[in-house]
Amino acid sequence: MKHTHPLIASLLRIHRFKAYLAIATALALAASALAQKPKTAQTEEESRHAIASASIEQDPKFAAAVQRFQTGFGATIKLARADDAVFAKNYVATALKPEHFDNTLQILTWVESELKRYPAGFLKKHGPKNLVLANAYISKTAKGTTPAYSPTFIAEKSSDSILVTVPTTMTASIEVLGRGYLHQILFTTILANVKDADSPIGLAHWKTLESDDSKLDTETAKRLTKASNGREGLYKMLWDAWEFAELTKFAKTDAKLMQRIDLVKSYMTSLDPQFDAAYWTALAVIPEEQRVICLNDLSDTHRTDKIKADADIQADIKVLEKQWGFIVLWEPGSEAPPMPVKVRFEYSYFTDKKLHEFKTFIRMARVNLGMYPEQITKRLHIKNLYILDTFDFRRSGVAGQGMNWLPQPSLAYGLRTFDPAKPASIDFLRRTIHHEVLHLIDKEFSKEGGPIYGANWDSLNQEGFHYRIGSPGAAGNPSGLRFYKDNTKWQGFAEPYGMNIATDDRATLYARLMTAHVADEGRGDQPFLEKLKTDPILKAKADRLIAFFKSLSQELAIQTPNAWSSRLGGD
Ligand SMILES: [Zn+2]
Repeated sequence: MKHTHPLIASLLRIHRFKAYLAIATALALAASALAQKPKTAQTEEESRHAIASASIEQDPKFAAAVQRFQTGFGATIKLARADDAVFAKNYVATALKPEHFDNTLQILTWVESELKRYPAGFLKKHGPKNLVLANAYISKTAKGTTPAYSPTFIAEKSSDSILVTVPTTMTASIEVLGRGYLHQILFTTILANVKDADSPIGLAHWKTLESDDSKLDTETAKRLTKASNGREGLYKMLWDAWEFAELTKFAKTDAKLMQRIDLVKSYMTSLDPQFDAAYWTALAVIPEEQRVICLNDLSDTHRTDKIKADADIQADIKVLEKQWGFIVLWEPGSEAPPMPVKVRFEYSYFTDKKLHEFKTFIRMARVNLGMYPEQITKRLHIKNLYILDTFDFRRSGVAGQGMNWLPQPSLAYGLRTFDPAKPASIDFLRRTIHHEVLHLIDKEFSKEGGPIYGANWDSLNQEGFHYRIGSPGAAGNPSGLRFYKDNTKWQGFAEPYGMNIATDDRATLYARLMTAHVADEGRGDQPFLEKLKTDPILKAKADRLIAFFKSLSQELAIQTPNAWSSRLGGD
């Protein structure tokens, strides 16, 4: 039951915008529902736990959430004690500490919103009696060689509970994946009450309805079919409008899949008639906050006449396409860039209304992307260059995106805030152009054991520093809570954004190196150049990046110096 995979974590890492999960404001109700446990502190660990849980339990926001779960879903929220004998028979539980308070509220907020999707009264009757929170539940049967892993949700049948992990460091994937797993675990608890072995939803009958996933031609079809061959896997998909829609599509040519979907639906209907046809239809509607929306007015057929007639623009586009082998997508009506997670995504392409901005960018792209040697551009094998005006992901603007999770990567730039009259805006965009290329280079050329890969890079950092995402120490890194605020002391970063994850550390530094001498209208990026002189860790990282590119140039037989290597420095 692995809920988060490192790959998924990287898929969810959207560059150059800050996607913090909002902590909803909880109602401030009185803490009357909470009876204080008698304190008979036997061990130091227990007394410490008592203090910690008391301070979480006494918080009015937490108390209000407890109240709402009780009245809304008939579920009691509890905090597990260290190695809790009742709620963690098969797990070693690590109790929550006061520092986990924000994360606790955050998880309860989206768990509540997910549970509210069920028909009124359903969970009171069929849901778990307890939600038990801990910082970690580590399986007692876990092998010593595998890293300790605490699933976000665990069904604990004997006490009719769902165990909930509140991790020390929150990542977007915990919520995005967790929402689905919550439903899966709920269905596990519902199925556990099926006593009749001959029930249609029973495993014996279910097994006769499995689809053959071996001969399907697309990865999506294989993945969905495989997952839907399990009862919990199929149920989970019904709560994701995108997957539900795809599943329904595949069911049109897979009679057994159709039967499985109908079986799960009708079983739920048998438990509660509110699960009627209208209910299932509503679940399959893609919610507003997950829509992909094109903001262009496609009825105006002359919207790009000037861009099309502009010889310079068209020549620059041709040069870029030839050198990189990608297709430049810029016209309104072109496809939406394929974003990795299903959150609200709004985009628009340029029109003549912003001809000057578009033209300035195209020239900047020609100059800055034009300096890369073909040995690199051809190997990156980029499919599309998306040039967008609006590029809003979860209602936050994105300036650039190196889509290195795709089988064939693409590049995208969002220019809504670009102002060619402002040197700072020009500088930012120039850095962004190179920043995203570095992400693709990282993926294509940086290999295990290499100078900028994994620990070889991470170990350049100051003792004790951990990236917010993806470094081995991140899970136990208390600074993860208020990351940027608490981490201003660290040396070695071109921009605070680089503290997020190693690849953004490299991308921010690389982009500064590539643009330092031309920035500020030719006066140079003095703050960065000064930092490079006074910050030995930053200098060591810069040297490491330059050394990496030197050896890459040798490996690819790139003649140096060239425009690109000279910009990078170190020649
Ligand atoms: Zn980035």
